[in-house]
Amino acid sequence: MDIRFDGRTALVTGAGSGIGAAIARQLAASGATVVLGDLDEAGMAAVAGDIARAGGRALSVRLDVAEPASVEAAVAFCEAQTGALHLLVNNAGIGGPQAPTGEYPVDGWEKVIAVNLTGVFLGLRYGLPAIERAGGGAVVNVSSILGSVAFAGAPAYVAAKHGVNGLTKCAAAEYATRGVRINAVGPAFIRTPLLEKNLSAEVMAALAGMHPVKRIGEADEVATLVLYLLSDRASFVTGSYHLVDGGYTAL
Ligand code: NAP
Repeated sequence: MDIRFDGRTALVTGAGSGIGAAIARQLAASGATVVLGDLDEAGMAAVAGDIARAGGRALSVRLDVAEPASVEAAVAFCEAQTGALHLLVNNAGIGGPQAPTGEYPVDGWEKVIAVNLTGVFLGLRYGLPAIERAGGGAVVNVSSILGSVAFAGAPAYVAAKHGVNGLTKCAAAEYATRGVRINAVGPAFIRTPLLEKNLSAEVMAALAGMHPVKRIGEADEVATLVLYLLSDRASFVTGSYHLVDGGYTAL
């Protein structure tokens, strides 16, 4: 399936690492002008360098998805630098503390909700008017399997990702006749720095065993689904949640 995004601009949050970096690389390889938005400036520089060496076009903007003024400025940057914003991937996210709900640190709760849920709202809040100004487009919100099932010890993350799925449905219903499709994806455990910097090799192996395919996923496997949902091939797909989970939630 040949999917092309020539002439389109895409903003990918959290594009300096992991899943966001894979999405940015695949979008650029498919002809999009990609704006990388992240707190991690070194990560963005590395990804932008890879894209340029491969013949693609990438710009970078420092972005904190939890700060309204920062998100508004990033969207304005896309329009000023490339003329329009057509595609948005709300991907930036954090894991947060691990503790049972009755012991969960309140500041950790507030941080995870701010980045993983309010961050997606702010992307939509400032991105949707820009996509409408561009004449239409598509949004993908990176949720998780934990948008539909629980994981003990991660109440803030689970609540935020369930919230992302509800927000996706609401915004999709509002914009279905306004030229913007909005979907969510639900990856299971994916090999990225988010996991690798927090978990031991033993825990990673145990997580792999929880997937019927007996491995964790790769960022490119998520990116391929995201590109489909962003593309015109998905013209009748909006307001829904698409798993990419090696069978994790089938059990
Ligand atoms: P990652 O490798 O840690 O990359 C996330 C990127 O987002 C990092 O560059 C990080 O920068 C950046 N970021 C964090 N907070 C930010 C903020 N407030 N504003 C802007 N950028 C920020 O993580 P990943 O595994 O690719 O995760 C990407 C998304 O996929 C997240 O929404 C995550 O919840 C979701 N997801 C991941 C998995 C998995 O198993 N990996 C599974 C399901 C869903 P810093 O490094 O500077 O913090």
